Amino acid sequence: MSTSTSEAQTQEMKEIQIWKCKDSECNAWIRDEFVTEAAPSCPLCSSMMEQSKKQVPLAVKKVRKTFIMGKRRF
Ligand SMILES: [Zn+2]
Repeated sequence: MSTSTSEAQTQEMKEIQIWKCKDSECNAWIRDEFVTEAAPSCPLCSSMMEQSKKQVPLAVKKVRKTFIMGKRRF
């Protein structure tokens, strides 16, 4: 959980399950939650895909919106 001692890292990342294209020249990937097939094929080049993981920034849009609304009230 939150055991990090590094204060420099402000951008929180989370690891998600993805499927990525096996073709090294193709950068296509899909979130695992959007895949219904057992073995999906690449939507761009139709190559086989393999299960992998990817680090993505945590979305903080909800927090931002609250902040803006708080400012407008003033
Ligand atoms: Zn591909």
